[in-house]
Parts: sequence; structure tokens; C-alpha cells
Amino acid sequence: MAFPFPRSIAILLFGAIFATASPCDTLADQFPEQVFFDDDSEYNASISSYTWVQTQLHPTCIVQPESAEDVAQLVKSLGHLNTAFAVRGGGHSVNKGFSNIDQGVTIDLRKMNTTDLVDLGPAGDGEDGTLEIGPGALWGPVYDYIDPKNISVLGGRVYDVGVAGLTTGGGISFFSTERGFVCDGVTNFEVVLSNATVVNANATSNVGLFQALKGGQNNFGIVTKFSFLTFKQGPMWGSSILFSNKSEHDLLQAVTDHKLAPFDSSAMFVAQFLYFLPDQTRQCVSNIWYLKPDAPKTSLDQFLSIEPRLNLTESVESAGKQVLHAIQPIPPGTFELWATTTLRISKTVLFKLHPLWEARIDALTEKYGKTNKTIMWAYGFQGMPTASDSNSLGINPAAHPEESWLNMLGLFQYNDASLTEELQNVVLSFIDEAEKVTKEEGVYEAYKYLNYAHWKQDIFSGYGKESLERMRKVAKEYDPVAMFQKQVTGGYKLW
Ligand SMILES: Cc1cc2nc3c(=O)[nH]c(=O)nc-3n(C[C@H](O)[C@H](O)[C@H](O)COP(=O)(O)OP(=O)(O)OC[C@H]3O[C@@H](n4cnc5c(N)ncnc54)[C@H](O)[C@@H]3O)c2cc1C
Repeated sequence: MAFPFPRSIAILLFGAIFATASPCDTLADQFPEQVFFDDDSEYNASISSYTWVQTQLHPTCIVQPESAEDVAQLVKSLGHLNTAFAVRGGGHSVNKGFSNIDQGVTIDLRKMNTTDLVDLGPAGDGEDGTLEIGPGALWGPVYDYIDPKNISVLGGRVYDVGVAGLTTGGGISFFSTERGFVCDGVTNFEVVLSNATVVNANATSNVGLFQALKGGQNNFGIVTKFSFLTFKQGPMWGSSILFSNKSEHDLLQAVTDHKLAPFDSSAMFVAQFLYFLPDQTRQCVSNIWYLKPDAPKTSLDQFLSIEPRLNLTESVESAGKQVLHAIQPIPPGTFELWATTTLRISKTVLFKLHPLWEARIDALTEKYGKTNKTIMWAYGFQGMPTASDSNSLGINPAAHPEESWLNMLGLFQYNDASLTEELQNVVLSFIDEAEKVTKEEGVYEAYKYLNYAHWKQDIFSGYGKESLERMRKVAKEYDPVAMFQKQVTGGYKLW
């Protein structure tokens, strides 16, 4: 709120005479145009623009910087004030408290959302060019900007998902089986460190920080600009097919056969199995994409041959159009709980995992079948990106995750917050049991995709000892006061 004089003085004059100014009042004095309190419309607009779970949290103030210099000044002040704060990019994390905070300060980067094609590459056609993206950008508008130029970058698959969290957590894209994790597409991070300096991290400068940020999320600084390598990309083929539960076996077989067949780097899929309460109905769905729209999609034929279908959509469109209907966004007013694991394919493993999901359907139906609770209990598989030594994810490229690994995601969608603890236990026990099965089958992988993980899951030990030690060393070097371990409360920490 705008005061005719500094907010801290206003409090002394009109408020609690003996109270000392709060950290937010001090920030409001320093950044009068950028700090918002709960009686400001900007504050409420910021809170309501999160996915539902973060809207449950209410920081004392929200700061909306507009440049890297603003972020640097802010970090300097937050260091002096020693106040807890959250860093928010697109605000799409499903883990409560990862990008918002109760009391404390939330840095909302949404005003830093520009997208600039600064270099078209050596041939001037967009191949090997550079796209600069602000940390408050969402993937949809990024694609809207580059699609008409027939250029793309490794990016997200849903319009409203943020660039910053998705990229710093790894990132799975339409193009990942061919080109790697989304973070592998970054050529430079502009970062504000805890000492309030702005540095660039790339293949020749601050190299350790460059690697650490590719998977280490908010542990080292606040990214204020991403530079992405661009490539030429026209429209691609995509299809979403809905089946009844009678096709569950066929869909599991299609995933199994696809992963066991010779690798096709143009193909990408997500297969999901869904159970709905209170209706007590089951469905399954496949989302499949092929990067070369005119080439035969033989490796995906089995998904297309499953009958009967309840619905089928098919299109040849740019990535920016595919994100409008690729994967369902989170409906407003809905809580999500996600947990994840990774496995290698075998002829039998998916058929051993499926009963674990079904057993929980029975338990949920028994408990909630006669109530009106709206709950979706789902799980699914998708292909994994190619690996690289230059990120911190710790996956050996020689393991060829793009060929034989699968990401498995268990998830709840529900609208009654009081169910959170119980459903959280269900999804975590599901993943625990799944890991017992994959270990017995000899196909367990320790890596877990950070952006699909539950906050209770241990992510960084899954990156491997070497990677974790390297990230810790980088954190000590670039953040010696441990601001991003202690003051930034949300997210997976290194210690
Ligand atoms: C509907 C839906 C679809 C999705 N689709 C995909 C997909 O296709 N591929 C995929 O890989 N993932 C996908 N995800 C997962 C997604 O990657 C994560 O939710 C991710 O955290 C979103 O990024 P964000 O910027 O919106 O998140 P936020 O909630 O803003 O942030 C997430 C984390 O990143 C940190 N962070 C944010 N900005 C910065 C910054 N500038 N510097 C340092 N740290 C920062 C935050 O502090 C927080 O810990 C999807 C999620 C949803 C809900």
C-alpha cells in the first residue's frame, strides 16, 4: 500500500508505537513500488495465480522485482534482515511451501518474464541460436513467441508451467528423447548470489555453478535470466487417446513393447491410469508425440491400435499448440500430491506394478466410496530424456535412459485439504512398494525426477554421491553464508 512517508515511520506514528519495524516494512521503505501487503490488489493477484496448494500460504509481503539489479538489492537486504523467504518462478510446484511461504517474504519473479531471440545462429535460420528467457516466464508464452519462427527450445509441455522451476529441476520436454533434459538446453544462467552480485554461469565461466544449477534448483542463487540453445522445429504430430479400464492391460503392453523395441528418438509418450471417486470409474489415457510429422510412426503403432477408444484427438501442430492440450492442467481449486520413482523396463515389471495401484483403489473405495469426496488416484509412465555429464542429475549417459528407463509418477488430485496427510501416506507407500518390486525385478534406478517428487522424498542422494558432493562444494563456494540452505525454506536442500 502506498504511504505518504516510509512504512516503518507510518507504523511508529499510527500503529504499534513500541513495535520495531518488521522486515517487510523495511523492504517496503527500500522498494516502495515493489513490495505488496495483503491489503494490496497485487498481493492477492499474486497469491491467486499459484496452483491451488501454494494459495494456502500467506507471506507477510510479496516483492516483485523487475530486473536482476532489483533482485540483487533485495537479496542484499534479505541477508541483512536474516528473514526467511521463498523464490517463485511460474508457481507450479505441487509441493506446499516450495515457492511460497507463510509469514516471511515471497520473491515473485513474474514481472521478469521477457523472451528475446537474441541470436539466430550461424546460418541465420534459428539453428544453434540463443533465446533469452526471464525467470518469471511461463512456457506457453515462450512458445507463442518462437513458434511463428519455426524455432524451438527444450521446454515444458503445459502452457502455464514456469520456465525457472522446470529448468532448474531438470525438465522433461517433447524433445527430450532426442535432445536431453530441459536444463541441458541452457547455455548461460544469469544468477544473483547471496553476496548480491550478478554473475553469469556457462561452459567457460563459473563452470561448477553452471553444472550445479542444472538439477540443483534453488540451492545456489536466484536465476534472473536463462539463455537457451534454439533449434529449427516445425510442427509435430501429437495424439491423446482415452480408453476404458478394459484397455489397461493393452496399454501396459504397448508401453512395454515400445520400450523393448529398437529406440526411436522421435517418439515420446505418457501413459496414465486413472481412478475417480465418487463415480468409482476407471480410465486410461495415452499421450503420444512424434517429432517428424510426415515420417511413419511405426514405434507408436501399438498405442494407436488399442481398441475400443473412448476418445481420440490427433493433430499436427507446433509445440506451442501442443501445450494447449498435451497434458491436462491442474483444475482450479484442486490439491495435488505427487511422488515418483525410476525404473528400467523388463517384460514383466509393469504388470507387477499395476496391482499396487489397483490395491489402493480397493482401499480408497472402501473408505470413501459412500462419501461425496472428489478424488482422482492415478499413476503413469513416461519415457526419459537422454543423459549428459554436464548437468548435476548424476545419470551416466552410457546407461542410455532414453532407451530403457521409465519415469513412474503416482498422483492424487482432490479438493478436501483435510485428506492431505492420509493421501500422502497412500502415494508414498505406493512408491515404496513399487521400489521393492523394481529392486526384486533388478530394474530399480536410484535417480528420481525432482519436479515430480514429493517433498518427503530424498532427491539428491538419487543423483549419486559424486554429484551431491560436487553440488555441496559449489554451494559452499558461491553461498558461504548458506542463505539458500537456511533462509530459503522451500525446496530440496543439500544438507
Ligand atoms: C500441470 C503441470 C504440468 C507439468 N508438466 C511438466 C512437463 O511437461 N515437464 C516437466 O519436466 N515438468 C512438468 N511439470 C512439473 C514442473 O516442472 C514443476 O512443477 C516446476 O516446479 C514448475 O516450475 P515453476 O517455475 O512453475 O515452479 P515454482 O513453483 O515457481 O518453483 C519451483 C521451485 O523452483 C525454485 N525456483 C523458481 N524460480 C527460481 C529461480 N529463478 N532461481 C532459482 N530457483 C527458482 C522455487 O524456489 C521452487 O523451489 C508440470 C507440473 C504441472 C503442475
